[in-house]
Amino acid sequence: EGKEIPYDPEQLRKINEHPCYSKEACHKSGRMHLPVAPKCNIQCNYCVRDFDCVNESRPGVCSEVLKPEEAVKLVGEVLDKYPYIKVIGIAGPGDPLANEETFETLRLLKEEYPTPIKCLSTNGLLLPESLDRLIEYDVGNITVTLNAVDPAIGEKIYSFVEWEGKKLHGREAAEKLLSQQLKGIEMAVANKILVKINTVFIPGVNDHHIVDIAKKVGEMGVFTFNLIPVIPQYKFSDVTPPTPKEKREMQDKCSPFVRQMRHCQRCRSDAIGKLGEDIQDCIYQSRHAEE
Ligand code: SF4
Ligand code: SF4
Repeated sequence: EGKEIPYDPEQLRKINEHPCYSKEACHKSGRMHLPVAPKCNIQCNYCVRDFDCVNESRPGVCSEVLKPEEAVKLVGEVLDKYPYIKVIGIAGPGDPLANEETFETLRLLKEEYPTPIKCLSTNGLLLPESLDRLIEYDVGNITVTLNAVDPAIGEKIYSFVEWEGKKLHGREAAEKLLSQQLKGIEMAVANKILVKINTVFIPGVNDHHIVDIAKKVGEMGVFTFNLIPVIPQYKFSDVTPPTPKEKREMQDKCSPFVRQMRHCQRCRSDAIGKLGEDIQDCIYQSRHAEE
C-alpha cells in the first residue's frame, strides 16, 4: 500500500508507539489529547462550532477547554498513573494552529515531558507558517484533514476561510486552503514528520474524488490515510452518510495508493487512554472533585 519509504529509528518509534499509526500499538499504547485550542479559522459545511472539530473527533461532543498550564499539569498526573500513554496530542476543539495556546502548551511539554510523542491535527491552513515552531517543539506526527484536491469540489465543502484578517469565500477560499494544505504537507514530509491524512467521505459531494485524493497524498509520501464518514449536520444535514460497507469498498479502492488506517475511533479532543478504552471521564471528574 502506497510508496515505501525507509524510515529512520526515531520515525519508527513514532510509528510503532502511536496507536493511530500502528494497529499493533493500539492494543499497547494510549494517547492523551489536550483540549487547549478552541478557535477555528475556516468553516466546514459539516461543522457545528459548538462541538469538537472533526479533524480528529466525533462531532456532537464538546470538550471543556484547558489553559496550557492546566493541560501540562494534567499530563504529569496522567503519565504518573498510566505509563502506557505514549502520545500527547492537540486536536481541538477548534483548529490547533489557529490558537497561540497550542504553541505555549507544546513549549511547556518540551521542557517538562520531552519523551512522549507529540502529535497534532489541523485543517492545514496555517501549516506552512507553523512548521518551524512545530519542528522546534518536536512534533513528529501531524494529521491534516484534506477533503478535496480540486478547488471546484473544495468550494462545496467550505463556507469561508479566514486569511490575513479577511474572510475568503467560494472558489477563492477553496484555492487558498488547498494551496496551503499541499504546501504544508510537502514541507512536513520533507522534514521527516509522519503525516496522516483524514478525508471526510461526503456522498454526492466528494465521493467520486476520494481516490484522486488518495493518489495525490500517496505520491507526496504521507504515512497513512484515514477515511471518515460524514456526520450529517449543518449545511450537510440532508446528506446520507456512507454505510460501513461503502466505506470499506472506498478504502479498498484507495489502498493501492496509500496505506489505510482502518481502526480510527473518532476520538474526542479531550480523549485519554487506549483507543476505544477511554478514561478521560474519570480523570476529568476527579479533576473537578479536587477543585
Ligand atoms: Fe469545524 Fe474543524 Fe472544520 Fe474548523 S476545521 S470548521 S472546527 S470541523
Ligand atoms: Fe487516532 Fe482516530 Fe482517535 Fe485521531 S480520532 S486519535 S486518528 S483513533
